[in-house]
Amino acid sequence: MSAATALAGLWSGLAAFGRDGGAPPPSAARGRADDAPQRTPAASALRPAVFIDKDGTLIENVPYNVDPALLRFMPGAPQALATLARAGYALLIVTNQSGLARGHFTRAQFAHLQAALEQRLRDEAGVELLDVLVCPHAPGPGGAPACLCRKPAPGMLTRAARRHGLDLARSWMVGDTLDDVEAGRRAGCSALHFDSGGETLWQRSPLRTPLATCTDWRQVLDAIVGPSADATGAPLPVATSGTA
Ligand SMILES: [Mg+2]
Ligand SMILES: [Zn+2]
Repeated sequence: MSAATALAGLWSGLAAFGRDGGAPPPSAARGRADDAPQRTPAASALRPAVFIDKDGTLIENVPYNVDPALLRFMPGAPQALATLARAGYALLIVTNQSGLARGHFTRAQFAHLQAALEQRLRDEAGVELLDVLVCPHAPGPGGAPACLCRKPAPGMLTRAARRHGLDLARSWMVGDTLDDVEAGRRAGCSALHFDSGGETLWQRSPLRTPLATCTDWRQVLDAIVGPSADATGAPLPVATSGTA
């Protein structure tokens, strides 16, 4: 068995076993990744999160860019993240960066860009990201999965959930491609398609069907915290006791 075949098998297994890669829940026997979430008594201790794709969702997509001078937020994105944080959601970026595997830039260059992005979110909206998860791998031949983390695989989300104690069933994935939608749904999250033009293939399937399609961050807030969300205002009665 080739390494790629082995990884594809692992990836399928992870998807089938659901959200933490551990013992499969009873529903896994039915092979459905969109089953109702497994509730446990400890679930209330876990925080909900919003997983955010970077390119074409949080910022304008400049392919393989690592120059902080070229960072442009999508309109209203930093302020929307601040509203989500006030509503109790942990905020994380989950991003495919095959430019690392392809040699377009180095880990150090990407770290420099990430630091600049995080600082701008702090400066412009008082937003603190809980984490930034990066898949540094390239897809395999024909686009086949070659790792457990590249979206549409859910590995970055499930890893973050284990690392930070996140409640995937109450969490959201927001991204500009259907691969983002699929990664979110495979992780057990609700998923929004942020349609900024990044999707070009439109390969549809049940797992690639978002709960809603949004074309700006106002609509994302409407979907997650409701149309009463106040971009400047008071705590919203949504998520948890979480500390933002
Ligand atoms: Mg994107
Ligand atoms: Zn990967």
